[in-house]
Amino acid sequence: MPRMSLRERISEGLFLLDGAMGTQLIASGVEAGECNDYLNIDSPDTIFEIHQAYFRAGSDAVLTNTFGANKFALGRHGFSDKVKEINTAAAKIARRAAGKERYVLGDIGPSGDFLQPLGNLEPEKLEDAFAEQAKVLSAGGVDGFIIETMTALDEMTIAIEAVKSVCGDLPIFASMAFDKVAGGFKTMMGVDIKSAVAKMVALGVDAVGFNCGTATLDEYTELAGKYVLAVKQLGKDVLIFAEPNAGKAELVDGRAVYKVSPEDFAAAAEKIHSLGINIIGGCCGTVPEHIKAICGKTKNKK
Ligand SMILES: [Zn+2]
Repeated sequence: MPRMSLRERISEGLFLLDGAMGTQLIASGVEAGECNDYLNIDSPDTIFEIHQAYFRAGSDAVLTNTFGANKFALGRHGFSDKVKEINTAAAKIARRAAGKERYVLGDIGPSGDFLQPLGNLEPEKLEDAFAEQAKVLSAGGVDGFIIETMTALDEMTIAIEAVKSVCGDLPIFASMAFDKVAGGFKTMMGVDIKSAVAKMVALGVDAVGFNCGTATLDEYTELAGKYVLAVKQLGKDVLIFAEPNAGKAELVDGRAVYKVSPEDFAAAAEKIHSLGINIIGGCCGTVPEHIKAICGKTKNKK
């Protein structure tokens, strides 16, 4: 574990997260549709090297490769009984890459199902599933948690409560995925920024953020400004983090391709940073070069 706690470190100034894991896995030859989370067991070296590449690029923290490592998401690949094994392995790999000076965030993504009454998922079962995952990650030595790419407020609420119930006092980052639609930014499930921020802050997380979604870099910068405003209006002292995609995906031969250069990404990150957002990383389409470019532009600023 690093000497300074994650909570102390993030309050100090600029803190860089990593970029995408999935994009790097595809680049390393993993087929789309494979269970990325099982690679912690199957190809630990591949995951370790990706974490290392981000640390070399200047990331202060990496996210464990556990985006889909809850019981429900794993169940789609026939691995619902492997929650412990997969999350334990993932935490260990990230911890080893982070060494003593850098940080590891336990990554928790959505279940991929809809809660009742929209779907069949029972809230208690979902809470158990997130708590199960968080407990294993916590035992594996993560420094904190990131609950991300959420689109439904009820699932986000359950995830935060579940993590809180098992993680002791570890910091929690919570993030939703927004799309730019007519009339502003909304998640796929219709949640607006104000409601998202108010709910996450009320639940007592350390940092609220946005990641993924579909927007151009200019729109992500606009979204960042709206987050700053929403937090300010609440009058609460809470950190904000931003993990935009490498711009908006273009479909090429049926595949999503992200074309934003590291320089353009870093320029947007610098604008986002200048709004007062100190925790920055990347989501889909970002690679170590994007993080390295942010580092080059911002490393002398706190
Ligand atoms: Zn993404």
